[in-house]
Amino acid sequence: MTDSQHISHTQLPSENAVSCSNCAACCCQLEVMLITDTGVPPRFIATDDWGGEVMQRLDDGWCAALDRDSMRCSIYELRPLICREFEMGSVECQDERRGMTSIYR
Ligand code: SF4
Ligand code: SF4
Repeated sequence: MTDSQHISHTQLPSENAVSCSNCAACCCQLEVMLITDTGVPPRFIATDDWGGEVMQRLDDGWCAALDRDSMRCSIYELRPLICREFEMGSVECQDERRGMTSIYR
């Protein structure tokens, strides 16, 4: 998921160069379950319909912990395990980027 590079809100995903630095944090709109305790601050945690803990998402669809100005994770050192394991350039990553591109078209 989002790395420590600056990510511009206006930069759209590119098929050619898959990088978090040219992505509008596409994967940070996915549901993120908290399956281990990595120290996520309680204000960013919600409970799903089945009682499980998930990252809270705001009305714009993105994770509550995403800094909207920089499009960077504001809790990078404390981010959930799922975010740590979501691999840049993976099939899932590229699927999310394609999905986001279609929204902008
Ligand atoms: S979708 Fe891929 S490129 Fe975009 S922020 Fe997530 S891991 Fe990085
Ligand atoms: S915790 Fe950070 S990396 Fe994970 S979805 Fe939220 S903003 Fe993205």
